[in-house]
Parts: sequence; structure tokens; C-alpha cells
Amino acid sequence: IYILGIESSCDDTAASVIQNGKILSNVIASQKIHEEYGGVVPELASRAHQQNIVPVVTQALKKANITKDKLHAVAFTKGPGLMGSLLVGTSFAKSIAYGLNIPLIDVNHMQAHILAHFIDEEGFNKPPFPFLAMTISGGHTQIVRVDNYFNMAVIGETMDDAVGEAFDKSGKILGLGYPAGPEIDKRAKFGNPKAFKFTKPKVDGLNFSFSGLKTAILYFIQKEVKANPNFIEENLNDICASIQYTIIGILIDKLKLASKQTGIQHIAIGGGVSANSGIRQALKDGEQKFGWTTYVPKFEFTTDNAAMIAIVGYLKYLEGSFAKQNVIASARLKI
Ligand code: ATP
Ligand code: FE
Repeated sequence: IYILGIESSCDDTAASVIQNGKILSNVIASQKIHEEYGGVVPELASRAHQQNIVPVVTQALKKANITKDKLHAVAFTKGPGLMGSLLVGTSFAKSIAYGLNIPLIDVNHMQAHILAHFIDEEGFNKPPFPFLAMTISGGHTQIVRVDNYFNMAVIGETMDDAVGEAFDKSGKILGLGYPAGPEIDKRAKFGNPKAFKFTKPKVDGLNFSFSGLKTAILYFIQKEVKANPNFIEENLNDICASIQYTIIGILIDKLKLASKQTGIQHIAIGGGVSANSGIRQALKDGEQKFGWTTYVPKFEFTTDNAAMIAIVGYLKYLEGSFAKQNVIASARLKI
């Protein structure tokens, strides 16, 4: 079974062809334009998607070495995301499905970040049901109890900023480029995680809050820079390491609680922040410390990609779960 997946929820235009669970191609056009603005500009994103979508899909088919008449279905991201961005992928997928007279499959982007674990990749085990999935990305921070492919429930989530935003906004305070997550990660490797202490937010239960942390970092930096204008340059690696250490501490605390409350020891992560080397290490340590079995996706399936959309398309195809031609994008689609 050949499935074409299309992802356009934010600022990456992506297309992938999979054959059953195996990736044949996984093409991404990342939009550089937003770097100048320090964040994604929705109108510019949808314009860039319009320019990228045809070449990206064409390349995905070419790399997979198949012609479009071989496709069994087209899967696309219905939401959540930016409406203008989602519309490009949605309309394009609809046209292909209509033109080729093949099924159209709508995919929830956040489910896809979780189900990316079911892509067939050598050396990567698939989590058994039930498992806990923590989705940590640019727009979301959730703990999801996954009982089956399409039977999952959010048991905890952020009340304000997402964890990716916490990284990006902290980076902005430090004068780093956008997105700052990868840069903080890189610098953290050379810094002392205990150099500076930031208090963790107190949020009951399995929910998260990151906006207080951002403010605490801002005030701390303002105060230090007042005393020493070179404070940031002189301590950048230590600041990055300390911020990352604090954020990871928050995530692991909640995972511990979720695991205790549900009795589930199989723990998976997904979303852009799961590329972070610190969280990857902390999860590994959790295997020894807390008896977890952990699942971390291959690097290229952490941030936005179309292979994760295609794999969900494949799983839905097997169930005969198709969308109609009048399906519409949904910016606030829930799990
Ligand atoms: P959502 O999936 O919630 O709609 P999104 O698609 O914009 O949001 P992703 O592409 O999944 O988000 O993730 C992007 C986020 O991941 C950014 O905030 C980025 O800083 C962060 N990120 C990427 N790599 C790393 C890393 N190594 N360490 C920390 N954060 C990272
Ligand atoms: Fe995403």
C-alpha cells in the first residue's frame, strides 16, 4: 500500500511516500523567512507553502521512485495549526485525491507526533499499548494516555506556553536566533546545569505552566546585565544549561507522576523538543531510576515531517477511515 502524506500545519512544507510502514521518501522545505522576525509570521508561512507544495510533493514521489497513479490514498494534516498554512495542504490533498479518484485521509497533527513511533525503522521498537506519550513541541505540551492507535486521551497539558516556546522565548531573551531550542541544546552541553537556579512553577496534577519560568529568566537576566553588561556573553553556556536543566526537571517530574497515577511504565516522547539531547538522556536515566521502558523517535521524526502524517494515513487506511471531499481544516483540532 502506497500512501502520500502532506504536512503544512506551521512553517514546514513536507511530503512523504510510505509503502506500508516503511518510508520511501521524506521531503521537507523549511521556511527561512521567519528567522528575521523571531517567530512564524502566518501570512508569510501560507504564501511560502503555496510556492513549495508542488515541488515538495513532486520530489517526494520522485525520491520514492513511483508515479502518482500508484498511490492508494492521500493523507494530510487537518489541524491543529495555522489556518492559512493548513488550507494549502488541505486543498492540495483534496485535489490530488479527487483527480486520482483515491481515498482522502485527514490526520490530527498531534496524534501524528505520537504515532510517528509506528514508522518501521531499524533499531527502533514500537511501544506496546497502553503507553504514555508526552508531546513536547512548539505549540503543545501534553501527556497522553494511548490505549490504541485512535483511542487516546490527554491527561495533562500546559495552561499557558508550550515547552518549545519556553526554549524559544528564553533564547530570545538571550539574543539567540529563532528557533532557539536547538542552540540552547548545543550550548547546554558545554555549560554547568546547576550554575543558576530557576524555581519550578507549582502546578497541581499533570498540568504544566511555563510562562512564569520565562518571566523569572527575563528578570534574572535583566538584573545580572545591569550589574555586568557582559553577563550573557560570559555565561551563555551555563545559562543555557541551567534553563534546559530546569525545563527537563519539570517534564520528568510530571512524567513520574503520570506513570505513578496510571501504573503505566512504557513512556514515549514526540514533537520537536524530543530532539533535545537532555530530555533524551533524562528518559534513558528513567529506565534505571524508575523502571521505565522509553521510546524516543528517530531524530528526523521529532520536528514536523510528513512521514508521521503518512504513517497515520496508513493506519487509518487499514481501518477504512476516510475523509469526505467537504472536509475542512481545523486550526484548534483536539486529540
Ligand atoms: P505543534 O506540533 O505543537 O503544532 P510545531 O509543529 O511548531 O508545534 P515542532 O516542529 O514539533 O513544533 O517543534 C518545534 C519546536 O521544537 C521549537 O520550539 C524548537 O525550538 C523546538 N526544538 C527543536 N529542536 C530542539 C532541541 N534540540 N532542543 C530543544 N528544543 C528544540
Ligand atoms: Fe509539530
